[in-house]
Amino acid sequence: MGLLDSLAKQVLKRATITRVAPIAHHTYHLTLQGPDLANLNYKPGQTLNVFFDLSGPEAALRKRTYSIWQYDAKALTLELAVCTFSNGPGARWAQHCRPGDEVYFNGPGGKFVLDATAASYCLLGDVSTLSHLYALRRQIPQTKPVFSLVHVQSQDDCFPDLDGSYLLHFAVADQLSAPEVLAAVAAQGLRSATDCLYYIGGAQEFCVETYQLLRKQWQVPTAQLKAKPFWK
Ligand SMILES: Cc1cc2nc3c(=O)[nH]c(=O)nc-3n(C[C@H](O)[C@H](O)[C@H](O)COP(=O)(O)OP(=O)(O)OC[C@H]3O[C@@H](n4cnc5c(N)ncnc54)[C@H](O)[C@@H]3O)c2cc1C
Repeated sequence: MGLLDSLAKQVLKRATITRVAPIAHHTYHLTLQGPDLANLNYKPGQTLNVFFDLSGPEAALRKRTYSIWQYDAKALTLELAVCTFSNGPGARWAQHCRPGDEVYFNGPGGKFVLDATAASYCLLGDVSTLSHLYALRRQIPQTKPVFSLVHVQSQDDCFPDLDGSYLLHFAVADQLSAPEVLAAVAAQGLRSATDCLYYIGGAQEFCVETYQLLRKQWQVPTAQLKAKPFWK
């Protein structure tokens, strides 16, 4: 083990993987558990930085950011949904990790979190943002309108929230442009919503294009737009 890896293990927090389950064609549900998960200062929409392969043959300090799907401060558990579309180190880690494996992390962190003050919400993203959008969706009171669209390329990429519910709208298509996404949420009645807060996640290009359309064509004030690229 390299010096960097050894130092990392000393400063990072540690958890044990207690569950690894495929929940969709390209997604694994991972449960982390352990005493270092006590008293996390968690807000819905925050993420965890996961470090893995610290003792692996390549011994590179690999860090990937994953959305906290759910945090249970009593059970000291934390749920992640990790996608494999990228086929990169993070995807391979999710495919190959097993219950009993240790994982190092820091966080929670991030600002793509729920602002509870809006009158209505619009949640837009793809499969890699789905657990994040579910974590936000769960916290929005039932009295407030929620518009949504999650782009999936195939029906078997959809997975429900942890309680089995499907509270977001999916659109199955090979490609989906920003104008098409906005047309789909407009069809849900979005244009008549007042004080709507937009959360836009997913591929960087999609985030930029959607943000600009909403800003310039729909005249949405920047204060009501939250965009976070999950991948480039
Ligand atoms: C705030 C935030 C929250 C995130 N939350 C999650 C999460 O909950 N679950 C999750 O799976 N990922 C999440 N990500 C993305 C995650 O951090 C990794 O970037 C992703 O898993 C790819 O890592 P990798 O090592 O497998 O591939 P990398 O080596 O990083 O990438 C390999 C290639 O795959 C492409 N790629 C990456 N992601 C995708 C994708 N979704 N579809 C198609 N191509 C892709 C990249 O463009 C790159 O060319 C989040 C990112 C951010 C910034």
